[in-house]
Amino acid sequence: MKKKYAFIPLAVIAIAIAFSFLPGKKPMPVFDVHLHGQKNMKEQLKSLEEAGVTIAAVSTSWNLQSTYAGNSSIRLLYGLMVPCPGGKVPYSQQQCFDDGKEWPNVAWVEQQVKAKKIDFIGEVLTQYHGISSADEKMFPYYALAEKYGLPVGVHTGSAGPDHGCPTFREDMGDPALLKPVMQKFPSMKLWIMHAGGPFLPQAIELMKAYPTIYTDISAVNNPAILPPAQFAGLIKMFVNAGLEDRLMFGSDNAPIKTVLEAIDQLDFLTPEQKQKIVYENATRFFQPAASK
Ligand SMILES: [Zn+2]
Repeated sequence: MKKKYAFIPLAVIAIAIAFSFLPGKKPMPVFDVHLHGQKNMKEQLKSLEEAGVTIAAVSTSWNLQSTYAGNSSIRLLYGLMVPCPGGKVPYSQQQCFDDGKEWPNVAWVEQQVKAKKIDFIGEVLTQYHGISSADEKMFPYYALAEKYGLPVGVHTGSAGPDHGCPTFREDMGDPALLKPVMQKFPSMKLWIMHAGGPFLPQAIELMKAYPTIYTDISAVNNPAILPPAQFAGLIKMFVNAGLEDRLMFGSDNAPIKTVLEAIDQLDFLTPEQKQKIVYENATRFFQPAASK
């Protein structure tokens, strides 16, 4: 009798193992292109890992960012926040750089790029600073990005409450402001953060005019910020405009499972389209850093 009972659980285990190797059972890999620092960094990385995130682009204060390496199996790409209104990261209010300045020294930035400590320029926070993303103060950073082939992520659209930046201007979040930037830096790898919402037609028009521009769908994919029906309408607009290959998933520190579910629930998308949005498009956009 004992032997018989021992046999049943073994059989169950064997079946479970067999099923775990079936195609489709493996969680879809996820590329989170919009991540900020958190004090509980280890917990943050663990929950991302559990949700299938294998690579992420993080931008936060320079000091906090430098503590992220080596704490998980997630491949991390590192950004440069610029400018920092009042010298601080919006919302968390940590000091961006040791010297407390709003604009990091351009020669120092170039050194960090050469030392492989910066993989992209972003989050560009000109809107929180109350100036246009095409302000000439940004030109030296755009020029560096173009010179070294680094992606540039610019915050667009609205902002949440309590960001702590009295200079924030909603009208400076219009993606159309980036048109002169693309004319001056035509080979810059630009990505519009937050899909430009609520300036969606402007985001779509700019992306149609410049085939190298991508967008992330962070914040708009968070049901606490945008109701699911409106998010579905937004994705439909981009897909119908022929832009499904240039949409990238980002969490912007929202609960990772919730924002991944928001995409999974879009039943007008095929599994292949979902895979493009949560992983493939970003791996193409972040070349060559994403494959190192
Ligand atoms: Zn943002």
